[in-house]
Amino acid sequence: MDMGERKGTNGLLAAKKKGTIMSDEFIREIRINPIVPAESVLVSTERSKRPRSKEEPAPRDSRRHVESCPFCRGNEALTPPEILRVPVAGEWQVRMVRNLYPVLGDDHSDSALFFGVQRAIDGYGRHEVIIDHADHGMVLHHMAEEHLAVLLGVYRDRMRALFDKDARLRFILVFKNFGPAAGASIPHTHSQLIAMPVVPRNIQDEVDNSRAYFQKTGKCIFCSLIDEALTLEATVYDRTSGKLRRRIDVGQYIVERSDHFIAIKPFASRFEWEIHILPLRHSHDFLDVSQEELADFARVLRRSMARLDAVVGDVQYNYFLHSAPRHAGPEVPASYHWHLEICPRTSIPNGFEIGSGLFVNTISPEDAARRLREVII
Ligand SMILES: [Zn+2]
Ligand SMILES: [Zn+2]
Ligand SMILES: [Zn+2]
Repeated sequence: MDMGERKGTNGLLAAKKKGTIMSDEFIREIRINPIVPAESVLVSTERSKRPRSKEEPAPRDSRRHVESCPFCRGNEALTPPEILRVPVAGEWQVRMVRNLYPVLGDDHSDSALFFGVQRAIDGYGRHEVIIDHADHGMVLHHMAEEHLAVLLGVYRDRMRALFDKDARLRFILVFKNFGPAAGASIPHTHSQLIAMPVVPRNIQDEVDNSRAYFQKTGKCIFCSLIDEALTLEATVYDRTSGKLRRRIDVGQYIVERSDHFIAIKPFASRFEWEIHILPLRHSHDFLDVSQEELADFARVLRRSMARLDAVVGDVQYNYFLHSAPRHAGPEVPASYHWHLEICPRTSIPNGFEIGSGLFVNTISPEDAARRLREVII
């Protein structure tokens, strides 16, 4: 399926006219993720009107200091070996330690195992923990922007150090699980870094599909989406009656915007409150981010999280940093675009979603973006 057909499938970019989506109409449509078409989503806003028991995730731990917590200041001796701390002397702001229960370890070879059609790679790699802040229950949007810039700088510098010293590594995922609903097993605010000799399927899909788009159009699909978000409007008419069906101001997907970054509500959002942050400047590799850009990224991230917290209330979430893999091909620097995916966990996937792989989103991304934008922060 080519990109043109895909646009035709969701029928949203048929014509241009000023206006915004009519949010009192319900939407029921399958939206194709332009980056990873296999990761599509069923947007069905009528579902949100049906009565359902409110899922109440276990509350997150909001204490500032916990005597028995190995990640709290003063308990440094209780953590696995330290990798780094910032600053090096005096009270640390961010610390990085090895994971006590790594999913991958560097005590293995990287030999691939083949059995039948299945393939496994011996669990070679790195699994490290970043203690984001000395305060136990500190939420991200209450961290100082200078602190967040330090944290993001730790992600970048550690990724660079690992790639530089180990040619076997092909991909490094930095992610954060915040709150029990997001699968965080340690309540103290932290992120994780997993460096691996293989490229995970969802990243490879992003790389392959963005490369295919680049080969066809000569453009980066992420840049094209940013351009669309910044400029396009669309009106959808009924094909037979010619009546107006829906107006879309594509700019309505923007949640935050700064000198160097944009936070957008993806058109095909898997999660009700999902937000993606992308650099406005085309760049495939997070390691290329400058100090000035890091400060700006920190600001957009903090403001986006503050908006989410205001709308969702005590938001629990995962975020994932997606940067280009190593040795991914000569076109990747032009075709891939690094980004951060923030996925708030407000509902538990149901059987249909797990069984079909089709996410169901009950709030239209247009409405969600508007509500996020309206938050005064
Ligand atoms: Zn703690
Ligand atoms: Zn780009
Ligand atoms: Zn991604």
